[in-house]
Order: sequence, then C-alpha cells, then structure tokens
Amino acid sequence: MNTEKTPGLYIHIPFCVSKCLYCDFYSSTSLSLLSFFLDAVFNEMAMYRNHFNSFDTVYVGGGTPSLLSPQQLEHILTNIRENFDLKSNSEITVETNPADLNQSYLESIREIGINRINIGVQSFDQKVLNFLGRRHSLTQAILAVEASRKAGFHNIGLDLIYGVPGQTIDSWLDTLKQAVGFSPEHLSCYQLTLETKTPLGKRYQAGEFSIPGEELQYEFFMKTSQFLEDAGYIHYEVSNFARGTELVSRHNQKYWDHSPYLGLGPAAHSFQDNRRWWNHRSVDQYITSINGGNLPVEETEILTTEQLRLEALYLGLRTKKGVYLEDFKNQYDCDLFTEKKKMLDKLQEEGLISIQDGRLSPTPTGLAVTDSLSQI
Ligand code: SF4
Repeated sequence: MNTEKTPGLYIHIPFCVSKCLYCDFYSSTSLSLLSFFLDAVFNEMAMYRNHFNSFDTVYVGGGTPSLLSPQQLEHILTNIRENFDLKSNSEITVETNPADLNQSYLESIREIGINRINIGVQSFDQKVLNFLGRRHSLTQAILAVEASRKAGFHNIGLDLIYGVPGQTIDSWLDTLKQAVGFSPEHLSCYQLTLETKTPLGKRYQAGEFSIPGEELQYEFFMKTSQFLEDAGYIHYEVSNFARGTELVSRHNQKYWDHSPYLGLGPAAHSFQDNRRWWNHRSVDQYITSINGGNLPVEETEILTTEQLRLEALYLGLRTKKGVYLEDFKNQYDCDLFTEKKKMLDKLQEEGLISIQDGRLSPTPTGLAVTDSLSQI
C-alpha cells in the first residue's frame, strides 16, 4: 500500500518541567528517568532495524525535547544512523520550548544537523501565556525566535493557540502580526480545546469562564486563514501554514498521505502497510518492556481496505491539495466522481469542496468544517 514511500521517524520525548494547564498529552515531570529512557529508545531503535530501512524525515517531539542537551540530541542522531539509512536530504525537526533556548544551545543543535526548529510560542500576549500556564514568558518567546534565526536556522516553525477565554479576534490578530514579523517559514495555529481532566477543563466545568461558541470559532479560523494567506502563507492543512510549497512540514505530510512512519517512545504511533500500532503511554511500562527484551507495543490494529479508503479521504480532505480522483480510484477501486456524485454536488453547492483538474479539495470554508466532509 505504502511501500514505495520513504518512511518518517518520530521520537517522543515524554518529559516536561511542569504541566501546562490545558495539556492532555502524555508527559512526565520526573526528569530523573531521562537517561534510562534514552537508553530504552536506542534499544527500541535497534529492535526495528530489520523492519525499516531508511527515513527521510525525523521529528523529535514531546513533551519537551529541548530538555535534552545538544550531546543527547546528537546521540539520538548517531543511533539513528547506526540502525537505519538516514537520507542525506532529510528534514530533521526538534520541538522546543522558548524557555530552554539560548544562542549557544541553538548553534550547537544546528551544528549537529538539526535543520528545522519548531518553537512552542503559543502566544505573543503575556496574559494568554499566564492563562495557559506556560513555562516561558513573552520576552523569552521573542528572544528564542530571534536567536534561532541568528543561529542559522532557515526553517523555523511557530506553534500558536487561539480561542483562549478572554481573547478577542483583534488580540489574536495582534499575535499573528507579531509572529509574521519574524518571517517564520511555518506556522501552526491550533484552537484551544479543553479536555475535562486538565486544570483548565475543570475550571471551565466549574463555570469560571466561557469559551468561544461555534460561530466565533469559525470567525477565528477564517480570520486566521485570510490574514496569513494575505501575508504570503499557504494554508495547506487545517491548522498549518507554510511560506512556500517547499516549506510544508514534510514529516507531518506523511501522516496525511498514508506514508509509513515509525514512532519510538511512550504513546508513539506507527504505521506500515495496513498496520497501525502504538506504544504504552507510561514511561515506566515502556522502559520495563524494553529492558525485558520486548517491543513496548500496547496494541496493534489491522486496517481493512474500506478503513484505509475512508481514512485516505478524511486525511486528504484536511489538506489543501486534497485527493486526486484517479489515484484514489486506482488505489481503492472507488470512483468517487460517479459513486458519490450526489454528495459531491451537494458539498460543491454549499461551497465546501471544489473539483478541478481531477482533484477533489476543500475550499477555505470546507477546511473549517472538515468533519462535515467525512460524510462523503
Ligand atoms: S510543554 Fe507541551 S507537552 Fe509539556 S505540558 Fe506543555 S503542552 Fe503539554
């Protein structure tokens, strides 16, 4: 199914100094396990050396990978090269927290071959950073972005969050203006979601504040798209913007086009052919499993052709390039154009999709409501 595409490698670093108030990701604040964890990752890599040959993207995500020293990050890259063929033109990304970044750290990680940096800025408004319980300040965010450029990074991505209680469209646009002022190559703009178990989720349930309703959420989304497109960015996926087609996240693209990927570390997901599997979430269980000589896999699922087809459509329609009808027909034996004609006509009339040059793609309005497109 996806054997001719070069796989991507994801490594999850499940540690954070403190938990942000909205965070529902798995991460631990017990940093004492960090070196045992890294040894376990190196062992997990070796366990996969006969299952994956080469990678052309590496994404070190988290958690907070910038808690790793440049030497530890270099050790990760060395181990990857010892176990696999890491292509010479690989995109190698590290996610970072602005609080951990300074000129010398950034220069060191640039020198060892990290060529893309993602900075979790989240907002250029100190009040929003306080509300979210972020570890970094506005000043640290600004210094981190400036220092990354000075350190020689030519591919900088900023993560931002909108729809925060108390935030207006204008104050959000102000954050976007400041972000664009640094000319980052990539921007990810996520809407704040409040999971019930998080501290902010609990405060929300207790009625301490309200969050934007559907209409306002839609306005945030459309204003973001419009503002960034006007500033020269391509809105290429629901939450992602790039300053040129060559600057889209090559690694994340693999998730959306069903390319194979290997995920190492707790809770990491992998995908190959029609198989998806994921690791134990707990760092302890992950390390114990590997030390016992076992892959730390919690569960595996085999996807049927029908499941793969639905996923390909759902994921494809999250991206601006959409789905090529002819490729889709060849791969899944399904001619969307004739089999789903009624539904496609309706969505076209509603202005949610367009069909041009054999390609089915979402309009900007369609991108705002991708879930409604999964009815195709
Ligand atoms: S830095 Fe990221 S992973 Fe860590 S607590 Fe904050 S949002 Fe969660």
